[in-house]
Amino acid sequence: MSYSPYLLQGQKALVTGGSSGIGAGVVRQLAKAGATVAINYHSHGEAAEKIVEDIKSAHGEAIAIQADVSQEADVKAMFSKVLNEFGTIDILVNNSGIQKDSPFLDMSLKDWNLVLSVNLTGQFLCAREAAKEFLRRGVQPQISCAAGKIICMSSVHQLIPWAGHVNYVTSKGGINMMMKTIAQELAPHKIRVNSIAPGAIKTPINKSSWDTPEAEAQLLELIPANRVGEVDDIGKAAVWLASDDSDYVNGTTLYVDGGMNLYPGFATG
Ligand code: NAD
Repeated sequence: MSYSPYLLQGQKALVTGGSSGIGAGVVRQLAKAGATVAINYHSHGEAAEKIVEDIKSAHGEAIAIQADVSQEADVKAMFSKVLNEFGTIDILVNNSGIQKDSPFLDMSLKDWNLVLSVNLTGQFLCAREAAKEFLRRGVQPQISCAAGKIICMSSVHQLIPWAGHVNYVTSKGGINMMMKTIAQELAPHKIRVNSIAPGAIKTPINKSSWDTPEAEAQLLELIPANRVGEVDDIGKAAVWLASDDSDYVNGTTLYVDGGMNLYPGFATG
């Protein structure tokens, strides 16, 4: 396999929820691989601008764009801005996601709808806008052998049930079938759609699970690799899935989880 340090040279990417956690890690790795990156943020403009500055000072190109991915008008305005600024888009990383946890019987319809609208409907709205542009523009062989790539941030919880998080796991299970169906529909147009399913990665969304030695020890019982993941573990997987090196990979989920989906409770029989 050929390797270039600038695997994504000349490509334009949009990462939703790119101002923190996994999204920020993906933004930095895409930029390091040569992509020009639009960083979507919901509410922390200063964090997004800081990453833009970091990328520019390393001679990369990036912009920050505010949008709520659950709102159709916001998503359309965000894509208009990306197309105005960059001319086109080659890579969408559908990363934004939230948790609103509670036991099933206490879960409000408001929290159910909120998580589904950000995590699932948000990915649908962004994927649809990206695909329209991929189809309009078609393949540019000097840039990529694909017309476009969509990467959906799922979770090991598209597979593993999780008591107390029924809205979240339902959104991730939905992402799995949405991703596969879009991949099936768009493959003839040379558009690839895949998911990354992170395990436990150190970010703000799950800080309480790893920020004390006791919490981390309990978490490690679920991870055969015996370490909590870092955002760069996901960023590097995203670079590969966005690059032509994964050209024959379509409609699949790449688990980046240190083996969390391997039923570690069965390791000792
Ligand atoms: P995070 O809280 O740092 O990131 C979530 C991002 O989504 C934030 O930047 C937030 O501003 C953004 N966001 C929230 N609502 C939004 C909206 N309405 N519109 C646009 N953006 C919005 O947490 P993270 O861990 O980096 O999570 C990123 C993704 O990774 C999520 O989809 C999450 O479900 C998934 N994930 C995380 C882990 C983990 O262990 N951290 C594991 C599996 C999956």
